[in-house]
Amino acid sequence: MDPTVLTVESTRVAIQEKQFSATALVEALHARIERDDTHAWLTHPPERALAQAAAIDKLADKGGPLPPLAGVPIGIKDVILTRGLRTTAGSKVLQHFFPPYDATAVARLEAAGAIVMGKTNCDEFAMGSSNENSAYGVVKNPHDKARVPGGSSGGSAAAVANGTAVAALGSDTGGSIRQPAAFCGIVGLMPSYGRVSRYGLIAFASSLDRIGPMTRSVKDAALILQHIAGHDPLDSTCANVPVPDYAAEIGKPVKGLKVGVPKEYFAEGLDDDVRASVEAATEKIHQLGCEVVPISLPHTKYAIPTYYVLATAEASSNLARYDGVRYGFRIKDAKTLTEMYRRTRDEGFGYEVKRRIMLGTYVLSAGYYDAYYLKAQRVRTLLSRDFDAAFAKVDAIVTPTTPTAAFKLGEKAENPLAMYLADIYTVTGNLAGVPAIAVPCGKTKTGLPIGLQIFARRFDEPTLLRLGHAYEHARGAF
Ligand code: GLN
Repeated sequence: MDPTVLTVESTRVAIQEKQFSATALVEALHARIERDDTHAWLTHPPERALAQAAAIDKLADKGGPLPPLAGVPIGIKDVILTRGLRTTAGSKVLQHFFPPYDATAVARLEAAGAIVMGKTNCDEFAMGSSNENSAYGVVKNPHDKARVPGGSSGGSAAAVANGTAVAALGSDTGGSIRQPAAFCGIVGLMPSYGRVSRYGLIAFASSLDRIGPMTRSVKDAALILQHIAGHDPLDSTCANVPVPDYAAEIGKPVKGLKVGVPKEYFAEGLDDDVRASVEAATEKIHQLGCEVVPISLPHTKYAIPTYYVLATAEASSNLARYDGVRYGFRIKDAKTLTEMYRRTRDEGFGYEVKRRIMLGTYVLSAGYYDAYYLKAQRVRTLLSRDFDAAFAKVDAIVTPTTPTAAFKLGEKAENPLAMYLADIYTVTGNLAGVPAIAVPCGKTKTGLPIGLQIFARRFDEPTLLRLGHAYEHARGAF
């Protein structure tokens, strides 16, 4: 068994055909996790995984058909709740938090036979693009250990890339699934807003947050999405829209699709190797019979400030609950209630989280609300309309996922603006509510992975996956 090349389907088939047992797979991966030198995992006690593996092996022994995700070992980003399994959000505030329930996405994966291997490292409260904001230490990029894996779902990306999980769940508020997927050479899918329940996702910015799969192939992303998508009465923002058969949809031909290439995503700041790779990918898509057309998303230049006003505003509100009373960490020996609040939050939160709370509180405060928050909401509408106008003409949009490949650990850590600017191509999709996928499309001259990004209309994951899958096959291995 080579766990680094297993896919969702090949895992189930191998267990069904008794090439190995689910238990043997869990044990092998657990041993790999213990040796993992990228620090992708935070919490990984074997009990839950072994219990589920035993149940799958029992089914396999009976010889009946196995559930669709049978035996698939999955890493869960540590902002997603897992019953009885420590969930920290990468923060000291939640260091001792053992959730009393599972997130809907986790419960649905397990019900479909998947195995929860443990919790993956991430930036504190999913705020970051490098995983350097985790209170539990950085994650290293499996392709080059001197470089970041991306963030905030850096642990999930590294786990799939380094062969300690077959798939993982991440969350994406401004790029946190797609950017680490691109940096680690895997597939990352951000579903449409409302497609996947966020019940049990620790909230960062609720109008932007999504949960989605991180996998080794587009087909695997489709197979995971199949089970986590769909209405959930426990999340009022989760849409009651029928879930298509994604695996069937990705087999359909892409010939005749109209694919837009927005000029704003190929402007200043784009690395030459990334540009060349994405252009070559676009040419492949053309050769597949798609009509490639230049388009414009004219408000793109406002996306970063808009995102960092809205995301911080929502974060400042969402994080008010960590007050030392209701959740987690509380400072000892405070003399007054105010001192308890103040010191709990000062010592519990890391530097970047505090920066965001202050920024967010500022843009929401009387006198600044209209100038910043309200203005940003209006610009968000313009950015959404950019996508609406584009999707009136094209079925999909292709862009780079990130302006550069993975940067060095420490390279941007002291410069928050440089770090924020790296999100330029991803935040637009969150602001507009549309789905997007990152698919590996090549390597830089120094061997670092590059990711192609594809956007589609809201709830049109079938087109997104179909194009991604067709491209992935046309591209071949590299
Ligand atoms: N890098 C972005 C940020 O720091 C996005 C994070 C995310 O998608 N969770 O806010």
